Amino acid sequence: LGGSISRALQQMSNATIIDEKVLNDCLNEITRALLQADVQFKLVRDMSTNIKKIVNLEDLAAGHNKRRIIQQAVYNELCKILDPGKPSFTLKKGKPSVVMFVGLQGSGKTTTCTKYAYHHQKKGWKPALVCADTFRAGAFDQLKQNATKAKIPFYGSYTESDPVKIAVDGVETFKKENCDLIIVDTSGRHKQEAALFEEMRQVSEATKPDLVIFVMDSSIGQAAFDQAQAFRQSVAVGAVIVTKMDGHAKGGGALSAVAATKSPVIFIGTGEHMDEFEVFDVKPFVSRLLGMGDLSGLVNKIQDVVPMDQQPELLQKLSEGQFTLRIMYEQFQNMLKMGPLGQVFSMLPGFSAEMMPKGREKESQAKFKRYMTMMDSMTNEGNTNPKIMTESRIMRIARGSGRLVHEVMEMLEEYKRLAKIFSKMKGLKIPKKGDMSSL
Ligand code: GDP
Ligand code: MG
Repeated sequence: LGGSISRALQQMSNATIIDEKVLNDCLNEITRALLQADVQFKLVRDMSTNIKKIVNLEDLAAGHNKRRIIQQAVYNELCKILDPGKPSFTLKKGKPSVVMFVGLQGSGKTTTCTKYAYHHQKKGWKPALVCADTFRAGAFDQLKQNATKAKIPFYGSYTESDPVKIAVDGVETFKKENCDLIIVDTSGRHKQEAALFEEMRQVSEATKPDLVIFVMDSSIGQAAFDQAQAFRQSVAVGAVIVTKMDGHAKGGGALSAVAATKSPVIFIGTGEHMDEFEVFDVKPFVSRLLGMGDLSGLVNKIQDVVPMDQQPELLQKLSEGQFTLRIMYEQFQNMLKMGPLGQVFSMLPGFSAEMMPKGREKESQAKFKRYMTMMDSMTNEGNTNPKIMTESRIMRIARGSGRLVHEVMEMLEEYKRLAKIFSKMKGLKIPKKGDMSSL
């Protein structure tokens, strides 16, 4: 998608005069690309109309970079769709909240319930899982297995067949145990939609959830809008989680789901494992969707703020898909200094919100320093390859840096996470100096 949109914008910038026809051709190309990425037809049409209104060719003074203005307009419009302007819920730590998960079978509810619980557990919540899926054979075992792995209390039954009763009993049980995040997993039976929606209504009625999260598989394509809307009409969906963003899904469905539910996307699932789960950030997502911002925007930013002599090497490495421990180390150093690169990297998904939360800079700094002493210890050991990790090596690094084994493992996880993000930069075209207009 990013490719076709930048190609469309490129073609336009090659034109000597940007007139109505050139703009229309460009918008048509962009429209086609968005439809291919599964953004709903009506959304795309409205967006195109809005952009035409915004980009009033006659009003643009000569010398304005029209291509950039159009690109910005596309970006802004997509951000607007993804930001319904309401965080429709606030859950409070320490106060018992009930969160109900809904979505079709196979969308990733059970997996996502655990990821969600685990994410909050790490942040000091006391989550619990309730399996109210009595429809799918093995549903309780699956939840039980996930919950056990994450050490999260769970509730369910092999014999009770009434999902409402299980949900109510589970919620009651965990309220008594002072859990503050009680998560109810539901059934998502296929091809029996009427019965499913009725069941959801009943579970919702009986458990009075503080938040209903709609889980959607990102690969369902153009069906996203209608599916999300159908759920929205039966239960009060307050947030969306889009799963399987690691696959070949194009992600446009997320926009459609937000538009249909008028609720924000709060997380995305990027794999089957517990920690393959990211807080959703509108801007980097749209950038990724357009294939522009976080990559070419990053190049822009690097060229703006990094001293000339330091640019080529870093860009070269990133475009080769290299993200070494050395680079991570240097970027941590930069972030500690909050030098120019600190700003650059804080634009990237993965580096931003998670690692340097506003107001908690002190903690983040302490964390970077901790990571760096462990990395130092790896260097002293003469082996910086984090791929070769044995138990004894991890213990040596922990001893060498005076840290705990689980802290070393956390640092390595962080490295893996960042390396995965940066691997997406592989193949990034590095523009020659003075040729920034080609981005
Ligand atoms: P449910 O029927 O809605 O409860 O869906 P499940 O949680 O059972 O998930 C269905 C399948 O999707 C399982 O094989 C999961 O491992 C897989 N899955 C869930 N989330 C993700 C994700 O973000 N990425 C990938 N690759 N697989 C996922
Ligand atoms: Mg399930």
